[in-house]
Amino acid sequence: MIGRFAPSPTGPLHFGSLLAALASYLEAKKSQGKWLVRMEDLDKPREMKGAAEAILRTLEAYGLYWDGEIVYQSKRNDLYQSALNELNVDKRTYACSCSRKEIQDSAINSQIGIEGIIYPGTCREKHITKTPHAIRVKTLDQNISFEDIIQGHVTQNLAKQIGDFVIKRADGLFAYQLSVVVDDYLQGITHIVRGADLLDSSTRQIYLQDLLGYQHIQYAHIPAAHNQQGEKLSKQTLAQAILAKDASKNLYQALCFLGQRPPADLGAEKTEQILNWAMDNWDINKVPKQKSTAI
Ligand code: GLU
Repeated sequence: MIGRFAPSPTGPLHFGSLLAALASYLEAKKSQGKWLVRMEDLDKPREMKGAAEAILRTLEAYGLYWDGEIVYQSKRNDLYQSALNELNVDKRTYACSCSRKEIQDSAINSQIGIEGIIYPGTCREKHITKTPHAIRVKTLDQNISFEDIIQGHVTQNLAKQIGDFVIKRADGLFAYQLSVVVDDYLQGITHIVRGADLLDSSTRQIYLQDLLGYQHIQYAHIPAAHNQQGEKLSKQTLAQAILAKDASKNLYQALCFLGQRPPADLGAEKTEQILNWAMDNWDINKVPKQKSTAI
């Protein structure tokens, strides 16, 4: 069993990302598995200076020690390019030079999917060579289904609900959907535990795994933490950084949020005791089967 935590260094660790870190850690460690940390630092324009280092120091302060070396996505472009080349060989991709505005304008005749406008496939047969262009992967009008350990049965039709999606951006950066699939495969990840804000990405990732001939992975999507205004905790919504000095309090609260019902006096213990209790008692079936909860 190999699990992972894959933060984007766009800001320091907040309570929402602690939940994903803790749940993925406990799920792996409960079965004597490995827990890897991968820094998803491909989107340099969105990166916050010092955040990657700060995230790692906070994980250590919370007793969440990872196995092996940290993988930095920014150093792995060659690997993503090889995967892209494989998809190109099979003619699964095409170049797209549509601007955001053009896609918006063409939307009159197209439909809104689960993540906004469904790209109408304007460039599919155009064989665009002029640069800059993005690379999209062709989707199929068929259902992709999987059983999520927490959220249950999930089915999506990528052509009808998402549309042909970008795997390399026009600015040359590889998109999350491709890099995450390549890395989870190369790192031998067997179990992905993460926030349910990424549930809708899973079918795209399974689709890419199929196209690339990779094995499927077991998914478990924990409820994403929202603030009182109903916004996902993130840098954009000014989620507060969690501090090293609050490790015990935050770990205790995270266990409560994850439905584990720790005994009241555990909150006063050191992080090591809290994590020991958590490892002995972790039960993923107790995690609330919701996509989000306010904290
Ligand atoms: N880097 C992503 C994020 O911070 C998570 C990726 C994943 O767990 O698949 O939202």
